Amino acid sequence: MTGRLAGRVAIITGAARGQGAAEAALFVAEGAQVVLGDVLTDQLHETAAAIGQHAHALRLDVTSADDWAAAVSFATRLGPLKVLVNNAGVHRLCPIEHETLDDFRRMIEINLFGAFLGMQAVRGPMAEAGGGSIINLSSSAGMTGYAYHAAYGSSKWALRGLTRTAAVEWGSLGIRVNSIHPGPIATDMLPPPAGGDPDRRFAAQPIGRAGTADEVAQLALFLASDDSSYQTGAEFVVDGGALAGPPPTYQWQPS
Ligand code: NAD
Repeated sequence: MTGRLAGRVAIITGAARGQGAAEAALFVAEGAQVVLGDVLTDQLHETAAAIGQHAHALRLDVTSADDWAAAVSFATRLGPLKVLVNNAGVHRLCPIEHETLDDFRRMIEINLFGAFLGMQAVRGPMAEAGGGSIINLSSSAGMTGYAYHAAYGSSKWALRGLTRTAAVEWGSLGIRVNSIHPGPIATDMLPPPAGGDPDRRFAAQPIGRAGTADEVAQLALFLASDDSSYQTGAEFVVDGGALAGPPPTYQWQPS
């Protein structure tokens, strides 16, 4: 490891497991102090303990402005708050005609308003620290339409818009804001295969497998570090080429 985040404090939401946990481990390995926030408190403490003393578990429900204030207060006591990864999210499939307003609203509250509250909470301390990097976990579902993704897709499309807006407003503060758009990533969020070869589900994308949390974490590290110093308001896809299109279904023959 090269200490790309040495001396920096990061908050990562939804870090009890999955991509957030992978990002926390990588950021600590690169020299950061990381505040891991989640509502799964038992798993959160286990994850932080496994990473080591520079990983700090803190219950953080991203829909609570009070929780955000407490998290930022805790983080700034550790050092300069330079990174926020709005990674917490929930996923649910539902056809539009069966979607309820309450369920739709709950999805937006966590996936969109949660990130919004986090961005508001870190803006001041990050500006005082001379700037920083905010990374919002959107999705490939924030770039195209998928069946049964009305609420989830809407939340991820909106997060993309919020990302660009913040990048425009906060560039002069030295705060960069970018979004990551994963395709299928093998975490608890991805439904288990119905049976047989798990890779068959991804045969219609150029890299015919699900991605790993570590592969997304490497991108998050790039965006958190000075390696991406000229990138803001940008959208970074990590989807095995799924959005690029399907691989050819027939063998080319010379005519
Ligand atoms: P995951 O389900 O393993 O992790 C999500 C985490 O968010 C969980 O630990 C959960 O407890 C936490 N969380 C949920 N509600 C919360 C709240 N109110 N406050 C704080 N934490 C909360 O899934 P993951 O794959 O690691 O997902 C990480 C992010 O990546 C999410 O934003 C997700 O939408 C996005 N994403 C995932 C995939 C995928 O295929 N796994 C694809 C595209 C985008």
